[in-house]
Amino acid sequence: MSQPSSPMRRRLRIAAALAVAACASANAVTVTSSYVQSSASEISRLLGGYSQPRVYLNAYACGEQQLSAMACSPYVISVGSNFLQQQEAYGSYVAKFVLAHEWGHTIQFNYGIRYQAPYQELQADCVAGSFAKYAETSLRYPSFIEASVRSARAAADYGTHGTPSQRDYYARRGYATSTNTCLNSL
Ligand SMILES: [Zn+2]
Repeated sequence: MSQPSSPMRRRLRIAAALAVAACASANAVTVTSSYVQSSASEISRLLGGYSQPRVYLNAYACGEQQLSAMACSPYVISVGSNFLQQQEAYGSYVAKFVLAHEWGHTIQFNYGIRYQAPYQELQADCVAGSFAKYAETSLRYPSFIEASVRSARAAADYGTHGTPSQRDYYARRGYATSTNTCLNSL
């Protein structure tokens, strides 16, 4: 006859099961509405002095045909959760880099900054790199610059967004300098 399990034992079993579940998902952040909005608040702490967009999730807020990540005015960033989840596959918190890149475009809208391709995009990469540094030093996130650079390189198009090495260079330039440098001496 087996012993009835004590409440303590049952609690331990539940704790062990939860620990296993936590390990299984440790290397992938799940992109939820609260993850996106808290990321926007974090980015606002660094970049809110330059622009204050709202981030719309899965809302086609820019009238786009397919959800990815885009900014269409100083006030609107539109992102899709599936797209951001794909970016997280490069490493945890890469979605924050992507959001910060779009925030960079809202700054460009706000100040009327218009560079020739690919520098409009590379400036956004630079701004995103500056946020990656801020997240690491001020918000105490583990570094996600390497994962972000991998994702940026993978999305390079040799046109509007530049080459993989250009994206790599400008993301790291922002990381090594500051938002102000990205905006004033790209
Ligand atoms: Zn862009």
